[in-house]
Amino acid sequence: MKYYVLFGPPGAGKGTQAGAMVERYNLCHISTGELLRSEIAAGTELGLKAKALIDNGNLVPDQVVEDMIEAKFRGTKGVDGFLLDGFPRTLAQAEALDSMVEKHGENVTACISIMIPDSLIKTRIAHRALVEDRADDARPEVVEHRIETYHAKTEPLIQFYKAAGKYKEIDGTGTIEEVRSRIFEAMD
Ligand code: AMP
Repeated sequence: MKYYVLFGPPGAGKGTQAGAMVERYNLCHISTGELLRSEIAAGTELGLKAKALIDNGNLVPDQVVEDMIEAKFRGTKGVDGFLLDGFPRTLAQAEALDSMVEKHGENVTACISIMIPDSLIKTRIAHRALVEDRADDARPEVVEHRIETYHAKTEPLIQFYKAAGKYKEIDGTGTIEEVRSRIFEAMD
């Protein structure tokens, strides 16, 4: 089984690129953000707790997303691997992922990192706010806070995956097609 981490700041295009990646490599796409948004839409207890955190641009507790990932690993059959989108987002989550994957006798295959400058993050999110109805995209101060959280808590993962020899950086600027072919080239 392949375990790919799809990494990048908010608005880098992870969700946009994931569809083509899962199709080409027969992967199961797991987006913790999407899973959390479905919990909110379904009005579950977990969704209610997560909503306030997400709407204010804060991360939900590590254990919550780790449990979601573990359940997906257990419940998914018939794929050649997983594409983790928006997870891990903290060093603790990255370490938890290593242990989960090791339990299955496997290793994280690679961290595919889509990189864009901070200036482009805001433009991309402002555009997404017009097409998708995400409360956390609508308020500039929340977007700002998510970018800060990314730099403080998530960016250290670059070093983590570099040290493990698993880090593959992709230039996320340009058209969707341009970024997609850079990703395919790296994964092939
Ligand atoms: P995303 O769709 O990946 O941008 O995620 C939207 C929001 O969901 C994030 O801003 C966080 O509040 C929450 N979230 C998603 N994934 C995680 C994660 N791995 N750890 C903590 N919070 C997360």
